[in-house]
Amino acid sequence: MPDRYHRQRLLVDIGDAGQQRLSEAHAAIVGCGALGCGVADLLARAGVGRLTIIDRDLVEETNLQRQVLFDQHDADTRAPKAAAACERIGQINPLVRTEPVIADFEATVAERVLLEGPLGPPGVIIDGTDNFETRLLINDLAVKHGLPYVYAGAVSTHATTMTVLPGETPCLRCVMPTPPPPGSQPTCDTAGVLGPVIAMVAGVQAAEAMKVLLGRRDLVRRILLEFDPWRGTRREIGLQRDPACPCCGSGRFEFLDAAPAGPTPLCGQAAVQINPTPGSRIDLRVLADRLRAHGSFETTRYLLRGELRDEAGESGEPVGLTVFADGRAIVGGVTDPARARTIYARYIGS
Ligand SMILES: [Zn+2]
Repeated sequence: MPDRYHRQRLLVDIGDAGQQRLSEAHAAIVGCGALGCGVADLLARAGVGRLTIIDRDLVEETNLQRQVLFDQHDADTRAPKAAAACERIGQINPLVRTEPVIADFEATVAERVLLEGPLGPPGVIIDGTDNFETRLLINDLAVKHGLPYVYAGAVSTHATTMTVLPGETPCLRCVMPTPPPPGSQPTCDTAGVLGPVIAMVAGVQAAEAMKVLLGRRDLVRRILLEFDPWRGTRREIGLQRDPACPCCGSGRFEFLDAAPAGPTPLCGQAAVQINPTPGSRIDLRVLADRLRAHGSFETTRYLLRGELRDEAGESGEPVGLTVFADGRAIVGGVTDPARARTIYARYIGS
């Protein structure tokens, strides 16, 4: 009988049994920018039964060039990416159960978010992030809990990807012992990024994830792949496990054990992020009532946002405030972390 997955069942490595296996599988996608959108779209269409999508950001118009799960309406309403992605997946394939997590994936919350969510622990972790701190945190989690991890990065016209099978292959930290110093690497914000490169590397990531979820580790790529479709170059780099690797060699999970992040200025924006106390929840409607005397605020299911008319930002405009249900906040119009912390304590509570 023809069905949604007919063309995929025809593949010898999938078949009916493989399709059934995918429908019972769970992938966690950390970061739902360009890569996360691309992989989530492919895995949802392939019928991976459960997808947890973790992202802290809101959709912006500059995302639409390459972040394929979002549209103009999402940018106009500044929808949280994780929620907008899950809504879109519901339209693409209603058979997939999704769980949006609107949170900053950092050390204090990472294990709880990834392992204790309503969809259960994942069978694979997909890298949709844009920085090596978070990647090495995912890598720590992956090695500690024996979860396969599909790393990828893309900037300008080139991309890199590798798959980590803990206990079998080198981990990301074997290849990159420390994150590059801040500002030393080009980013999508400074060097731009070509949409087709994202589509290609997201395709490789999704294929790797499907092999893992099908139990076909024998098919998983054991090299680091670099390619640039714009310049027509491609390189495969053989990898060795580093016996001195702190993570997979010595079992020291330094990124997972890191101290909670303090207020963080957000790259490329006049704004500071305040991270919540782990495990806290805020009733956004109650907060909105309390803030009514201080400015105009709107609430959605996921966040509260508006302007504090009694607080002037660095350009003289009122300070903007966005608060998420987990207590995380973005204080807009300021770049001084101490000032942002003071504003948070004054209006939200410490
Ligand atoms: Zn290692």
